[in-house]
Amino acid sequence: MNHTLQQLANTRQTYRNMLNLYWLTILLTAAFEYALHDNEAPQMFLAPLVLQAFGLAAVTGVAEMLYRYRKMQSDYLLIFTGMIYASSIILMNPSIGIVPAIYIFPILTSVLSFNRKKIVAAFIMILLSFGLLYTASPELREAMHPIHIIGLLFLYIGVTVIAFTISSSGIELLNNLNLTTVAKQELLVKNIIMDKLSKIDALTDLYNHKTFHEYIEKLIEQCEDNKLSMQLAIIDIDNFKTINDTYGHWVGDVILTRVAGILKDTVTPNDFVARYGGEEFAVIFTEKSLDEAYRIAEQIRHQLAITLHPELDSQAATISIGLQDYVKGIGKERLFKGADSSLYTAKRTGKNKTVAQTAGSGELGVYSI
Ligand code: GH3
Ligand code: MG
Ligand code: MG
Repeated sequence: MNHTLQQLANTRQTYRNMLNLYWLTILLTAAFEYALHDNEAPQMFLAPLVLQAFGLAAVTGVAEMLYRYRKMQSDYLLIFTGMIYASSIILMNPSIGIVPAIYIFPILTSVLSFNRKKIVAAFIMILLSFGLLYTASPELREAMHPIHIIGLLFLYIGVTVIAFTISSSGIELLNNLNLTTVAKQELLVKNIIMDKLSKIDALTDLYNHKTFHEYIEKLIEQCEDNKLSMQLAIIDIDNFKTINDTYGHWVGDVILTRVAGILKDTVTPNDFVARYGGEEFAVIFTEKSLDEAYRIAEQIRHQLAITLHPELDSQAATISIGLQDYVKGIGKERLFKGADSSLYTAKRTGKNKTVAQTAGSGELGVYSI
């Protein structure tokens, strides 16, 4: 049995139910014996009946105490208790030839363990116990003909085989359940990975274009509903084509990841960075004034401008940034147009700079703080 099955077997409610059943059986046995010996004089059977009830209560009491105070759930103890019950009933009624059939109950109890070793142990225990009673009780010997013994053996073996089958089928079911659970968990992990892959740009590890648009749309809705401040920066690497053409495409890729790294390291946790496409990036600043957003954009630009790349013969790469403040009511299109035209201004006026358009003004202008 694997670990999960073992755990399941140890935490089942069945153990409590079995103990309850044993307690109930003491009462039922007493009532049954009383009814059976009804025509005899009470002094003939009352003493053994009380003795039997006390004996069974003592054995069950031990199992109960161990369960309550030691949290012990022992299948062997349950089987043993069942065997004591069955033996006591046989001893009380040795002349009724069918009574030793009652030993099938401890065997059935062993099925609860879903453990073949314990089923075999129960089978051996009842064989030994039957042998002992047979040797010790002349009345039992007298009542049992050889054909009865053969019949009983068949019964015990038959029940043991059935117990094996039930237990195998239970183990199989639990194994299947286990496999299904594992498969489900793997699927869940795969879904999470797939979800992440569909949102992230593989080269820079930034959010991709699609996710960026989904996010900015949600954010604009929030800006319209609440007083949330937001700025959009579009960042474009300067002369990137020249970098590619001069040093190779792979160097271009290295520069892209460096820019992405600086972006990630410089923005605050409230900001959202994406690779917008090609050599363009976009940053959404939230919970900031335009001044603060501008300052962070300048930090990014400055950090890159002082970073020397061995792949570029120890030269720096630069970026131009167009920044636009979101003003309630302007919508997504005008937000992008504003950022784009600021970026265009930055490129046209010498690159390696951040240009912001002041809110409300229809005209382009370099924003300074
Ligand atoms: P400007 O300063 O005006 O922005 O000029 P530029 O050369 O940066 O701009 P242009 O649009 O002419 O060139 C962009 C180049 O970026 C062209 C394209 O091959 C390259 N590019 C786009 N995506 C990637 C990429 O994933 N890796 C690399 N290495 N290059 C890319
Ligand atoms: Mg470009
Ligand atoms: Mg460019």
